[in-house]
Amino acid sequence: MPELPEVETVRRGLAPVMEGAVIVQADVNRPDLRWPFPSNMADRLTGQRVLGLRRRSKYILLDLASGETLLVHLGMSGRMLISGDPLGTFVHEHPAPEKHDHVVLHMDSGARITFNDPRRFGAMDLLATDSGDTHKLLASLGPEPLGNTFNEAHLIQALQGRNTPIKSALLDQRIVAGLGNIYVCETLFRARISPRRKAGNIGAKRIGALVPIIRDVLGEAIEAGGSSLRDFRQADGELGYFQHSFDVYGREDKPCRTLGCGGHISRIVQSGRSSFYCTICQR
Ligand SMILES: [Zn+2]
Repeated sequence: MPELPEVETVRRGLAPVMEGAVIVQADVNRPDLRWPFPSNMADRLTGQRVLGLRRRSKYILLDLASGETLLVHLGMSGRMLISGDPLGTFVHEHPAPEKHDHVVLHMDSGARITFNDPRRFGAMDLLATDSGDTHKLLASLGPEPLGNTFNEAHLIQALQGRNTPIKSALLDQRIVAGLGNIYVCETLFRARISPRRKAGNIGAKRIGALVPIIRDVLGEAIEAGGSSLRDFRQADGELGYFQHSFDVYGREDKPCRTLGCGGHISRIVQSGRSSFYCTICQR
């Protein structure tokens, strides 16, 4: 499942191809993904210049000249493919349409943006650009982990008195937006905090220290995504999924990478999600 760094990588990959370009044709090949598409979506996209691409949490927001914003969520298995860009940024030929190509945007530059999603947990919606974060998917989101409003004071206050495990608290999108399972596991490993610890029982200093660690973990993954974009010319035109090595995620029974620890990575299930951690150095 794409997490924040993957979504940011998709945004950065799409931006040079879409920003300033006009959608000359929009193929909407089915009525819905996870939810029904907004009414007349193809008509509302056709002829629109894309003013800019933003990201909020795991949502990509394309601001259109009409004053509407196209919200895109990749869901579990959504992929964005770029083909046929004559500017030479990306050189992939237009592929034959595939079964799960649900939405295809043809840009006036000749580039084609394809949204492919076999499991259809993705979503697209149109909202008024000036409605801010009032959309139902955005309204309850907490601060962006890489933004200024996410800071030590916010996190300490948000976790105060919480009886839930720190793992679940950091996955709570109202506390911090866009953090997913993988990067919470990695964050807690670096902070040497057990995912089982009750959030409210962890000292303020250790909670505060999570803020720069979260930024580092996400920042490094976004950087890895950036490298994958530079290799994009050789790839197949698909954005956003890149090779990245993790310290604990997916490393059950492997040796802990903390110097001198000697432990092994354990896997437990919390709220239906796997937590990977070292029982020796994460307390
Ligand atoms: Zn360890």
